[in-house]
Amino acid sequence: MKPKERLAIPRQKPKELVPADRVTNFYEVVSNFDQETAFKEADRCLQCKKPKCMIAGCPIHNNIPKFIGLLRENKIEEAYWAIRETSSLPAVCSRVCPHEFQCEGSCVRGKKGDPVSIGMLERYIADWMVENKKNIMAPCALPNGKKIALVGSGPAGMTTAFYLAHQGYACTIFESLPILGGMLTVGIPAYRLPRNIVNAEFDALKNCGVKIVTDVVIGKDKTLEDLKSEGFEAVFIGVGAHDSRKLGIDGEDLEGVTHGVDYLREVNMGKPVHLGKNVVVVGGGNVAIDVARTALRTGSENVFILYRRTKAEMPASQAEIDHLEEEGVTIEMLAAPVKIHGEGGKLSQIECIRMELGEPDDSGRRSPVPMEGSNFMIDADSIIPAISQNVNLTSKEGVDLNLSRWNTFIVDDDTMQTNIDWVFAGGDAVLGPQTAAKAVYQAKVAAESIHRFVEGLDLREGRFDQES
Ligand code: SF4
Repeated sequence: MKPKERLAIPRQKPKELVPADRVTNFYEVVSNFDQETAFKEADRCLQCKKPKCMIAGCPIHNNIPKFIGLLRENKIEEAYWAIRETSSLPAVCSRVCPHEFQCEGSCVRGKKGDPVSIGMLERYIADWMVENKKNIMAPCALPNGKKIALVGSGPAGMTTAFYLAHQGYACTIFESLPILGGMLTVGIPAYRLPRNIVNAEFDALKNCGVKIVTDVVIGKDKTLEDLKSEGFEAVFIGVGAHDSRKLGIDGEDLEGVTHGVDYLREVNMGKPVHLGKNVVVVGGGNVAIDVARTALRTGSENVFILYRRTKAEMPASQAEIDHLEEEGVTIEMLAAPVKIHGEGGKLSQIECIRMELGEPDDSGRRSPVPMEGSNFMIDADSIIPAISQNVNLTSKEGVDLNLSRWNTFIVDDDTMQTNIDWVFAGGDAVLGPQTAAKAVYQAKVAAESIHRFVEGLDLREGRFDQES
């Protein structure tokens, strides 16, 4: 095919459930490409010699032109293993990564039109393997008799366990909750990431001998030092950012105020949560959007998002914003809550103020400035602040681990080693709330460093290329 012909192919769109068919359930909204659509989309790739999608866009540097090229040749199994050379979680990352800000945001085709739909192609390949009952498990290694503990079963813990188990280490993942997956399962709703996708990854880990212990809180039920005494030669902290950041306004402790990730965790763990008819969500990121769409699916009728900037500045991905609006959520822009009013200990109204955009702040976005005297009230049954999350630090109880001013674990960026030589950390624990792909990358670095640490080798010699 000539380059001109490739350039003429429009970006292919996946099929989606229509809004009326999706707001009453948690079925996956976006369908996979069919074969014809996947091949057509693969034909749009220009096979760049210096692929920015891979070098600058993808945090784990998946060889994107290679797997797309193999897909084009109908070598789908080989395409899958090309992704697995760098990624432990293709089916997960292809669904939950914000591709428009990563690989697709760097695709050269995006300069004059639509980028290649890299995420959907990765998903097509990963799902094809499962649908065609192909083995998605890399061969397991012979046990080397050395034990490693992992704190948290999210994407960082899963990835570190994956790489270490495949080198023969006896890995044990300690999860504080009764269910596995961390933010992948208690944060992200099932309509974006079906649970069978995550479960398949845990089956693969168990198949390679990874032990999983639930309902154990490291730092409370046992400490990191206890793990060392039990014979674990190193520990990896891969805890997520599960603690909601507060708004810091009057009335936040009233009944009817539930914070974003707390609400999602309850729903995702199958607990009945009724927010009432009128719900106001505060925030503009993916958590706020997940909360609003989940509220609709659990029976709320009027769901608003209150965001202090405009839609153009929302950090959530465009596809998520589109889905949100299609489902009937209203975005109330340039507004922020200033006080939560209540009666008898229960929330009744939210007092808000109008904002206007001023000069750009550190993030490069124009900062919201309150407009004096513009206060207004909204009646609500529930308010869900979803403005950001902090890292859960329980695991550091009893040990003197250094923390940053954002209360994240400080590590050596090249090795992911903390100030205690047998303790490593990565993912949200180090970065704060971030993407699954960034957690996977740091977890891979940590796995290599842990191996080198246990073997008594120089950690830096084996380090991954950190260029991105
Ligand atoms: Fe293909 Fe875009 Fe990557 Fe180039 S930048 S190799 S066109 S996906």
